[in-house]
Amino acid sequence: MLFSQHWASFLSSGQFLKLTRAFEDPLQRTETFVLNRGITGRLHDTGILSFTPQSKSDTFLLISSGIHGNETAPIEMVDQLCQAIIKGELEVKVNLMLIIGNPAAIDFGQRFVEQNLNRLFCGLYKKQSSFDYEVKRAEMIEKSVYQFFAAAKSIDKPKLYHLDMHTAIRTSKYQRFALCPYLDGRPLNQDFISIFGGSGLQTLLLGNQPAGTFSYFTSHIFKANSATLELGKVRPFGENDSVKFLPVKTNLEKMISAQLVTKKSF
Ligand SMILES: [Zn+2]
Repeated sequence: MLFSQHWASFLSSGQFLKLTRAFEDPLQRTETFVLNRGITGRLHDTGILSFTPQSKSDTFLLISSGIHGNETAPIEMVDQLCQAIIKGELEVKVNLMLIIGNPAAIDFGQRFVEQNLNRLFCGLYKKQSSFDYEVKRAEMIEKSVYQFFAAAKSIDKPKLYHLDMHTAIRTSKYQRFALCPYLDGRPLNQDFISIFGGSGLQTLLLGNQPAGTFSYFTSHIFKANSATLELGKVRPFGENDSVKFLPVKTNLEKMISAQLVTKKSF
């Protein structure tokens, strides 16, 4: 099937995961579209999609999933959010980017194809000896995120958020928690912590050194309020208990539609 056929199907259904899985290699093309509520959409490349609201917003929200291909629950969540937006069931009131990180690993049902994508950010992909799939993805994702956050430069005190969603292989003391990357000496934004209220997360951990993770990249380069969210156990597609993920999904919907009332968490 041609790209144009997949694209037409995406524009009516919003099935972002299906579109992404059809094109796991770089598309090397961008597509823009306008939803009937004046929301502008842009496909930056495969698995990388952004939305601009009709009214200007000072908030930039990046929600990423599938940096590890077998962590399916967050990927399903991003797919569901996209479908709700395209179908007009979810209003976009902030600048929003949705990412499905590693399409080839998703198709293999594996964490990664050649190497751990979540060790290649902050330009570390440039230091790799081979130009493998994850190196290509890290380069493409970084480039798109630079484009996304660039619009914040013209705004006085923009609010930048990045939630990178994962699930865990091992069972840990906490099933669901947030890990904020090393902040380069900046204080932790209390408003950011409070957005986790009602998400069902059990604790917040703080990174103590720079890393090649996606969340450290957005925190370090853009001073975004970033976190890696560990949301439960790894399961295959279709086997995730959607009830367990509902509090997080509801919080994301509220952030997207600018209806989140911050409250004390933990
Ligand atoms: Zn992961």
